[in-house]
Amino acid sequence: MKGAQGMYDYILIGAGVSSVFALLRLQNTAKRILVLEAGPDFNQRDPQDLYQGFGGLGLAEGKYNFAPDFGGALAAKIGVGPTQALLAKVAQTLDTFGGQHALRYVAARPAQLRHQRDLVSVACTTQHLGTHLSRTVFGNMYQALKASQIEFRFQQKVQQITPLAQGFAVRTALGDTYRGQQVILATGVAVDPVLAANLRTLSIFSTQTRVDVGCRIETQGTALDVLLGTDPEVKLRWGERYTYCMNKHGRVVLKRQHNWAMADGQNYRENGATSNLNFTLFQPHYFASSSAAQAYLTALFQDRSTVIGQRLGDVAPQFAKGQLLSPTLAYQKGPALDADLLKPAIQFLDLLQQVTKTPIDGQTMLYGYDAKFYPTQVKTNAQFETGIPGLYCIGDCSGATYSLAQAAASGVYLGQIIAK
Ligand SMILES: Cc1cc2nc3c(=O)[nH]c(=O)nc-3n(C[C@H](O)[C@H](O)[C@H](O)COP(=O)(O)OP(=O)(O)OC[C@H]3O[C@@H](n4cnc5c(N)ncnc54)[C@H](O)[C@@H]3O)c2cc1C
Repeated sequence: MKGAQGMYDYILIGAGVSSVFALLRLQNTAKRILVLEAGPDFNQRDPQDLYQGFGGLGLAEGKYNFAPDFGGALAAKIGVGPTQALLAKVAQTLDTFGGQHALRYVAARPAQLRHQRDLVSVACTTQHLGTHLSRTVFGNMYQALKASQIEFRFQQKVQQITPLAQGFAVRTALGDTYRGQQVILATGVAVDPVLAANLRTLSIFSTQTRVDVGCRIETQGTALDVLLGTDPEVKLRWGERYTYCMNKHGRVVLKRQHNWAMADGQNYRENGATSNLNFTLFQPHYFASSSAAQAYLTALFQDRSTVIGQRLGDVAPQFAKGQLLSPTLAYQKGPALDADLLKPAIQFLDLLQQVTKTPIDGQTMLYGYDAKFYPTQVKTNAQFETGIPGLYCIGDCSGATYSLAQAAASGVYLGQIIAK
């Protein structure tokens, strides 16, 4: 067996957010731990590749939202109180490693929404690091973990996990095999297809696939001031739909994921303030299989190299065009936005102007599209253990988290259990 290294107590697959927060609880314990990461180590990371390498997607926008009912189903799994305690530990840990300089704010419930049944806001504390500070924080975590007993192997994409009579064999794309008593999957949302096929044979997946899709909306910077007050963001829920990544004075930026061109949001601290505000209105979509989800998204995004966009007033003439609005992202005019995503965006903007009593200008931009991917959910118990004893799954690949704070909290949670 190439690369046999004896038996580790734990092998963690992936060195992203959930894994790093688990490891911080396990450093300097007596556990023999190996981390296999598909991407490079921290110092070799390509700033353009947000997905792979030490820190995973922790090196992207770095907006930590601390609310048990936001960004994951941790509260449903382990309870609201324990989730709140874990989120507090995540915030404390960020501060320990340099995150105390982040922008912080508390999104309270605006008075205007008190009597609204359909439109509610999520009360949430946010610690917004941005890309530069995220890099500093994960750099400090990297130094601490490298100095501990934990072994890291980078550029080691895991493609096969085989349960043995005792423990597991973990095989990488390079053909190296490692053995561990227990294995923790922390591979995030982008699961390698070969590994996914292997995991399917282990029958640990449920069948449903979720993808949230919506238009990113860019409007006047003052349009939601009645709800925002002095806060930079308000998180709104409208039935199943919800606003995501609101950036007052920020920009709309191009994001490429799975080779699809998407409209993402960027905060004003990264590249200077604008006079606009942007957010995505997401709608969850559920598919019977990942290939059905793929087919829907391929038809939606096609192979465009940039996003498409339309002015609100051009598709909904009841919104009068008044104030000038300079779009912050270059877009392709036409084809028309998908009616199933456009119509709710228009209805939502209409509802907003009724609630705020502030007209939304017809110059408002609607970009197509933003999407948020959820991996096929792995079935786990309250300790994040799959149906196979000793095989755990934390962070976004578990399907139980889909945000930085909750992914990190799932890592803290499992780390605490193991460290005992
Ligand atoms: C562009 C972008 C920006 C985001 N910004 C925010 C934000 O501001 N706020 C927020 O709350 N959420 C945000 N999210 C979501 C958030 O980043 C994730 O929920 C979170 O990072 C999940 O943590 P994780 O540990 O599960 O996975 P990740 O942080 O993605 O880490 C997974 C790691 O596993 C490695 N890996 C994958 N497959 C293998 C394999 N087969 N073998 C070995 N290693 C492997 C990867 O290389 C990666 O390093 C963003 C997502 C995207 C895509």
